[in-house]
Amino acid sequence: MMRATGDSKPSFPARRPPEPVALDPQQWERILQIVRLQHPTLNRVWFDQMQPRQLTNGVIQVTVATSAQLNFCQSQCQQPFSAAAQQVTGRLVAVSFHCDNLPRGGVFNEGDEPLLLSPDYTFENFVTGPCNRLPHAASVAVAENPGKAYNPLFIHGGVGLGKTHLLQAVCQRVLEKQPDARILYLSCDNFINQFILAIENGDMHQFRYRYRHVDMLVIDDIHFLAGHDRTQEEFFHTFNTLYQQQRQIILSADCPPSEIPELEERLTSRFNWGLVARIEKPCYETRVAILQKKARMRGLVLPEDVVCYVAAKIESNTRELEGAITKLQGMSMLPGANGPGKIDLELAKAALGEIGTAEQRRITMQQIFDAVTKYYNVRLSDLQSKKRHKSIAFPRQVCMFLARRHTRYSLEEIGGYFGGRDHTTVLHGVRTVEADCKNDREIDNQVSHINGQLVG
Ligand code: ADP
Ligand code: MG
Repeated sequence: MMRATGDSKPSFPARRPPEPVALDPQQWERILQIVRLQHPTLNRVWFDQMQPRQLTNGVIQVTVATSAQLNFCQSQCQQPFSAAAQQVTGRLVAVSFHCDNLPRGGVFNEGDEPLLLSPDYTFENFVTGPCNRLPHAASVAVAENPGKAYNPLFIHGGVGLGKTHLLQAVCQRVLEKQPDARILYLSCDNFINQFILAIENGDMHQFRYRYRHVDMLVIDDIHFLAGHDRTQEEFFHTFNTLYQQQRQIILSADCPPSEIPELEERLTSRFNWGLVARIEKPCYETRVAILQKKARMRGLVLPEDVVCYVAAKIESNTRELEGAITKLQGMSMLPGANGPGKIDLELAKAALGEIGTAEQRRITMQQIFDAVTKYYNVRLSDLQSKKRHKSIAFPRQVCMFLARRHTRYSLEEIGGYFGGRDHTTVLHGVRTVEADCKNDREIDNQVSHINGQLVG
């Protein structure tokens, strides 16, 4: 089966371009002292051999010697070390641990660190039903027979329906059977950023080597390739190389390949070469089963009437079902409740009442238009026109984003409110605003402000 051949090229995973600023040794000494004082049970003699480096992004990267030390540090030391580092530097820094001598197999992300998969995201913890039988079966088949069963495997569906869960389950199953398999698992965003970085640093050779010498490549949320022409071009070649060597490729997206906006035709067609499987929203019975499983995983006992109530109340996605359990668990610990983990129907109704009202309190397109036109001082007719100037296009996209968030209209229906724009345009608008809010504080403030007016 798949096996990346070792040759004399740079070893995998490649290191990021160096950003080395040696950490002031005295500061590091003090950090160690504080940890040792405050957490005597954690203290190990080999702490003295740790090698700290200060990265530019507020992270102190500490290299340890062995993978066992790494395990120990990652599971127990991150918080105590970060707290001590904050105390010493007076800044909001975080400590992260690394090791240069790890076994070659494993799951890696875009950096040089092994990726910690969620131990919850396994096949054992995945509940199947009519909504996800095909993607689940395909994932199991791929995990049993990587590179052979379906290549690529393309899983698509709305948010919170279990795509990431399935992707990680495949990785974990493959590694169980083949501990030295090298899996590169990353979000599409990361792939794009790494590509841009590689171009900027003139590192394309290294970049290509990394991505084309793995046993399995998993990219989550591939729809973010939309519009990134040069990254698409590069990904096309990566795809071909891996495919020809029968390395497994797994992709997820929020829509089928043909609906990813601005995606090159040759990629769309390749994404369809293997199996395209859709995850639907879970039906009532599946929601019940998921609730029961999630509760059991947390050692909670949910009475049947509570399970039925929650399953009936929350239909939209599985992530919200999980949120509901967290909320119930939290409420059961408040003073005046029945006690930690004691959850009855009354408590469930009190806890989830709000969700119901938020869903019932329908926000209309008209309200969204009113709030946005007022805030940006634009005319509704402009929003609905074909004008593409940013001063109009952006408020239009904000409307689309808010409509997606607050109404139950489909992308097509929302497009209908804007002079019949098609759903890919709406999707692009929604994503643009999402990304801008993430990256730009000012825009995030604007959108939160308008949103506040709507829900307020
Ligand atoms: P997506 O990547 O599609 O947005 P995730 O994989 O992140 O969704 O799933 C959201 C949450 O719902 C996760 O906690 C996941 O474990 C859970 N989940 C989704 N589908 C299932 C399922 N069929 N069985 C158990 N848990 C599920
Ligand atoms: Mg996901």
